[in-house]
Amino acid sequence: MYPFRFTKASDEASALRAGASGARYIAGGTTLVDLMRETVERPDAVVDINALPYRDIDLKPARLRIGALARMSEVAAHPGVRQQFPVIAEALDLSASAQLRNMASIGGNLMQRPRCLYFRDVSASCNRRSPGAGCAAIEGRNRTHAILGTSDACVATHPSDLAVALVALDARVITRTREGERSTPIADFFRQPGATPDKEHNLHPGALIAAVEVTAHPESRRSGYLKVRDRESFEFAIASAAVALDITAGTVQTARVAAGGVGTVPWRLTAVEKALTGRPATPETWRAAAARAADGAKPLSENGFKVELIKRTVARQLVTVAGMP
Ligand SMILES: Cc1cc2nc3c(=O)[nH]c(=O)nc-3n(C[C@H](O)[C@H](O)[C@H](O)COP(=O)(O)OP(=O)(O)OC[C@H]3O[C@@H](n4cnc5c(N)ncnc54)[C@H](O)[C@@H]3O)c2cc1C
Repeated sequence: MYPFRFTKASDEASALRAGASGARYIAGGTTLVDLMRETVERPDAVVDINALPYRDIDLKPARLRIGALARMSEVAAHPGVRQQFPVIAEALDLSASAQLRNMASIGGNLMQRPRCLYFRDVSASCNRRSPGAGCAAIEGRNRTHAILGTSDACVATHPSDLAVALVALDARVITRTREGERSTPIADFFRQPGATPDKEHNLHPGALIAAVEVTAHPESRRSGYLKVRDRESFEFAIASAAVALDITAGTVQTARVAAGGVGTVPWRLTAVEKALTGRPATPETWRAAAARAADGAKPLSENGFKVELIKRTVARQLVTVAGMP
């Protein structure tokens, strides 16, 4: 570790003042502290934001608002979230470990950084950590890396499970700056790497995530998350699928499908959704739609298996969600 300044913000204004002068926010600290210990991140100042009034989980008939400081375990255990947005509760239940979920916040989860081995090893080349340094993963050990949304500069997957569920549900990220509040569709919040993989999101420098908002739709209740990983406990996704379906009179009225573990950002599967909408709720429909799950994929030397795996993951989760009462 190296020396840095640590303060606690007593309110939003003082947090935003510190943020505007370059301090990094810390909530649960479950990922920032690791990165600082490994010197992947070296902020001069860190400001604790846990005293901010961002911890409520507010469920109204038409929408859910989750405060950015709500803990992953609190959101997963919320009876209304479990009943009305099961895909959110399941994505959280399948994330990290119980101890981590008790500490880790929703805002921190969205802001977590990639798990690429080369990003986390300061002796390796990584454009995300050091722009222009090159990407050791492209010709290196890339079994866990992305097949969708990659660029010549970066192939790291986005690590958050929650973000996949939120992308499927068209959630909005509520942010605050000294100028006021902003609401951004979550799909516009995350950035594909392109030529600037160090720019991972569209959060204004110094801005705070205050909350995440999700509108309730008929399909939100009939939803779920499937995660495939190398071991059953605290492991990141190799492939995952968030699915929400509105099936009325035997026909798919609305389908929301997103994938994790395969994209450089949480990946909305629009071709799958299109192949489901207006179709009869039958095994043929699930099979034909899931076959589109890897459209546009560019596998690397070690991760070609993800092309078939994401199709099977989506197919299995379509069957599961369609079978929900
Ligand atoms: C062993 C291990 C396994 C894990 N497995 C999974 C997994 O399977 N799935 C998964 O999704 N995640 C997983 N995680 C990641 C975990 O979910 C995150 O570490 C956690 O959610 C981060 O939240 P935090 O509050 O601790 O963030 P912090 O470490 O406090 O902060 C993380 C980042 O977010 C920023 N930040 C925090 N709050 C705000 C805010 N309100 N506004 C703006 N910026 C903010 C910080 O400045 C920092 O850059 C795992 C982590 C570990 C260590």
